[in-house]
Amino acid sequence: MKIIKNIFEFIEYRNKLSKKIALVPTMGSIHEGHLSLVDTAKQYGEIIIATIFINPMQFNSSEDYKSYPKDFDQDKEILQNKGVDILFCPSISEIYPDGFDTTIKVDFLSELLEGKYRKDHMEGVATVVTKLFNIILPDYAIFGEKDFQQLLLIKSFVKDLNVPVKIISSKTIRDKDGLALSSRNIKLNPDERNIATEINKSLIMGVEKILLGEKNSKNIIEYIKIYLSSFNLIKIEYISIRNPKNFEVINKINKEFVILIAVYVGNIRLIDNIIIEEKNG
Ligand code: AMP
Repeated sequence: MKIIKNIFEFIEYRNKLSKKIALVPTMGSIHEGHLSLVDTAKQYGEIIIATIFINPMQFNSSEDYKSYPKDFDQDKEILQNKGVDILFCPSISEIYPDGFDTTIKVDFLSELLEGKYRKDHMEGVATVVTKLFNIILPDYAIFGEKDFQQLLLIKSFVKDLNVPVKIISSKTIRDKDGLALSSRNIKLNPDERNIATEINKSLIMGVEKILLGEKNSKNIIEYIKIYLSSFNLIKIEYISIRNPKNFEVINKINKEFVILIAVYVGNIRLIDNIIIEEKNG
């Protein structure tokens, strides 16, 4: 696996490549969720490029940024063993040199849920992903459904700005007990880790209730809220039921919906979702 830290060096190397490139952007602290994106990437690209860049622009708290898990040496080894061809891991000053003054904002998707509770987060994501696309020029880029709003945001600006990359989504990978894998999970203490399984459980309970005939979103949200409120370690930030295509709020639940949730377990913020979509929808 070739490791490149410098943009200029990357572009020189990239210019010599003529095969189809699939990109997997990450913030490191690599887990099986990231590796499943690499598996998906291999179905599309002949050359797999992963990136590790903890993007300060998408953190709304410097404490959260500073405490974000990092283990570059281990990440390198895991990605190499997984068959990634190139790892691009630029420094902050490479990505944001002095005088950097541009942001990409997707109006509707930047302001709600993740955007509302993490101010400027969505602009930070859209800006860094645009930069990575412009530097790497991938044919395909793979993103996880785990960050569903982020996935829609990226699809949205790629379409609006005619960015020549095909966005591929990849299913959420979970631990055996249902907790969605996340780099932040290692920050949970054993009690918090136990309780964190309730997040996915509550989403499944919500869907079961819908299948039993409850079609009013407010009632489903209330039902999930009441269930999770019985766990002292969990503090709910939002629960929302939306259309998985256009992200509009759904009041009366039909065939297609996504339930999105953000909670704090202790001090650790976790997000998850459950998507019900028609096969050809
Ligand atoms: P991150 O390093 O958390 O920024 O995530 C990098 C990419 O991995 C994003 O596209 C995420 O949606 C994806 N990802 C994170 N966790 C998972 C998971 N449990 N399953 C699938 N994809 C994931």
